[in-house]
Amino acid sequence: MVIILKNNATQENIDNIKNHLIDFGFQVHESKGVQKTILGAIGVQPDFDTRKIRILEGVADVYRITAPFKLASRDFKEENTIIKIKDVEIGGSKLVLMSGPCSIESEEQIFRLAETVAKSGARILRGGAFKPRTSPYSFQGMGEVGLKLLRAAADKFNLLAITEVMQISQIEVIEKYTDIFQLGARNMQNFALLKELGQTKKPVMLKRGLSATIEEWLMSAEYILASGNPNVILCERGIRTFETYTRNTFDLSAIPVVHKKSHLPVIADPSHATGINDQVPPMARAAVAAGADGLMIEIHYDPEHALSDGPQALLPEQYLELVEELRVIARAIRKDI
Ligand code: PEP
Ligand code: MN
Repeated sequence: MVIILKNNATQENIDNIKNHLIDFGFQVHESKGVQKTILGAIGVQPDFDTRKIRILEGVADVYRITAPFKLASRDFKEENTIIKIKDVEIGGSKLVLMSGPCSIESEEQIFRLAETVAKSGARILRGGAFKPRTSPYSFQGMGEVGLKLLRAAADKFNLLAITEVMQISQIEVIEKYTDIFQLGARNMQNFALLKELGQTKKPVMLKRGLSATIEEWLMSAEYILASGNPNVILCERGIRTFETYTRNTFDLSAIPVVHKKSHLPVIADPSHATGINDQVPPMARAAVAAGADGLMIEIHYDPEHALSDGPQALLPEQYLELVEELRVIARAIRKDI
């Protein structure tokens, strides 16, 4: 249930409304917008009479949110969520690029690639240290040694860092080195992990599950938001379909759908969505045109010997050329890089 407050509602009115809601058994979340302040009451019973709230001083309107996700919905928060991390804003007027290798492999590798990322004008360095591999015999990531390298490379080139967390026991160590937690597609419905990340202070980028509907994806975001972390970024990374010519099927339309249904920023990941190097630039361009708030792109200077996801990595020069094209498209839709 959403309670819209009158513009002239006093703090006393707001406290009184909140106390009533708590007494009725609701969990209360406040959303202060430029135009209006909204209270979200979670846990409404179907037979609850909303007039009990409507009559309170300071209340302009009360309505139920019909979507199953509440805090993630545009009904709860009309304005886009802009996540500020140091001097970077995600969800604002600038297109945010998160680029780097699939896995951190060595000091030389991550520093060389961080230099390319910085040169492109991107502000976020990606790199996996704990890798969710289909085969237990594949490279599993460098662990904390890799996290230290990621942090050092990011700091040297004035970049933020993003890296994947696969289980609750890794949160503490990853939090020391990263600026953003990446929650991978395979863990999108790991509800225990979602709740735990909801209790951390750092933003979480939630990738869409391998065969998750948009609603299921937004429900997973809801877990993080309901656990207390308002800084959730969504990432469309392709879904499993019957098509085999691409690794996944890039659901481009998820971008405008999510923008309509939710206030959370949406990043597109054309690398995992296609899985093939030459399909990455066209889908990256399409994602920017479709209004994505940013892109996650994997790069490598020696894809043939990459320890993971080599076939989809762009070479540094291909990546730099792509970013120039993205600048033109971004400008055409009144965004900037
Ligand atoms: C990755 O970003 O390297 C990754 C494993 O992504 P996803 O969870 O989307 O497969
Ligand atoms: Mn990868």
